[in-house]
Amino acid sequence: MKPIQEIYTLLDKPRTIVITMHQKPDPDAMGSSLALAGVLKKLGHKIFVISPTNWPEFLKWMPGARQVIDYEASTEKAMLALNEAEWIFCLDFNALHRTKHMAAVLAASKAVKILIDHHQQPEITAFAYGASDTSKSSTSEMIYDLIVAAGWGNLIDADIAACLYAGIIGDTGSFRFPATSAAVHKMVAVLKDAGLNHTKVHENLYDNFLEDRLRFIGHVLLHRMEVFYEYNTALIAITKHDLLKYNIRTGDTEGLVNYPLTIQGIKLAALVIDRDEERKWSFRSKGSFDVNTFARKYFNGGGHFNASGGRSSVSLPEAVAQFKAAMKENETQLQ
Ligand code: 5GP
Ligand code: MN
Repeated sequence: MKPIQEIYTLLDKPRTIVITMHQKPDPDAMGSSLALAGVLKKLGHKIFVISPTNWPEFLKWMPGARQVIDYEASTEKAMLALNEAEWIFCLDFNALHRTKHMAAVLAASKAVKILIDHHQQPEITAFAYGASDTSKSSTSEMIYDLIVAAGWGNLIDADIAACLYAGIIGDTGSFRFPATSAAVHKMVAVLKDAGLNHTKVHENLYDNFLEDRLRFIGHVLLHRMEVFYEYNTALIAITKHDLLKYNIRTGDTEGLVNYPLTIQGIKLAALVIDRDEERKWSFRSKGSFDVNTFARKYFNGGGHFNASGGRSSVSLPEAVAQFKAAMKENETQLQ
C-alpha cells in the first residue's frame, strides 16, 4: 500500500471514482464518504457513492445522501458504477468482508483501490494506496487531513463541514473518547468558520427517532440487561421478538451498548442482537480492556481498542453462553 500523498497529483485529471464504506454505515462511514465526494465533485471528478447495505434514517439528512446507491437494493446500478470506476475509495473499514456481498466484487475489481481508515490490523495487501492510522478519532478526521494536505481546504463549505462533523461526533461520542485530540478541536474550529451549524447536526443525529425506539430502550434496560459486578461487565441480549414488537429499524440500536458503561465500575459492555442470519455483537470498554482483541479471539470480529464488533452463527442463548465463558476467561484483565 503506497502512501496516500501519492494520489494528490494523480487527481489533476478528471477521474471516475466510486467511494464506498462499511455495511450498515454509521455517521463516520457515511459522513467521511459524502465529505470526500463533495470535495472531489467540486474538483470536476465523476463520483458515485455506494453503501453495501441500507443505512439508518438518521443519516438521510446528510447533504448528498439521496444520491448514495444501496448495493443490496440497487445491485445493477451499483455494478454499473463499479465497472466504470477507475478508482475505488474504501472508507472506514479495514477488511473487504466488512462490505458484505460487495466484498467479492471489490476483490475482483481492476480499479485502483484506496484505503482511508482508522481501524486496527488493516488488510493492506488489498489496496494500492492508503492511509491507516489507529490514533485518529475518525475516518472523517482523516478525510479532513487529506483535504487540507492536498490543498483543497478552501473547498470545504457548510455541507461538507456538516458531514465531517457528524462523523467526528459519532466516533468520539461527542468529543469524550480518548482519541479526541487537540487537532480534532482545531478542525472543528475550521469547520465552524466554514459555516457549520453544529446544533442542527446533533439534532439530526440524536433527536430523530420514533417513540417505538425510546420504548424499546426502556424495555431492554429493564428486561434484557444482566450485570456481572464480579467481572465489571454488563451484557444486553436482544431477541428477534423484541425487534419485531418495537418495529426496530436499521440504526435504532446504535448507541445502546454505551448505556451499561454508565454504571459505576463497569469496564466492559456487550450487546448482542439476534439479527436475521447472525447474532451481531458490539463491545465497548473503558480503560485498559482491549475489546479489539476480545472480539477477534471469541467473536470473529475486531475494530478499535475500546470499541469493536463481531458475530456468532450459533443461537442467541448459545452466543450468550459463549460470552459468559469468554468473560470468565478474562477475569484478571477485567479487574
Ligand atoms: P459497532 O458496535 O458500532 O457495530 O462497531 C464498533 C466498531 O467496531 C466500529 O468501528 C466498527 O467498524 C467495528 N466493527 C464492528 N463489527 C466488526 C466486525 O465484525 N469486524 C471488524 N473488523 N470490525 C467491526
Ligand atoms: Mn469510524
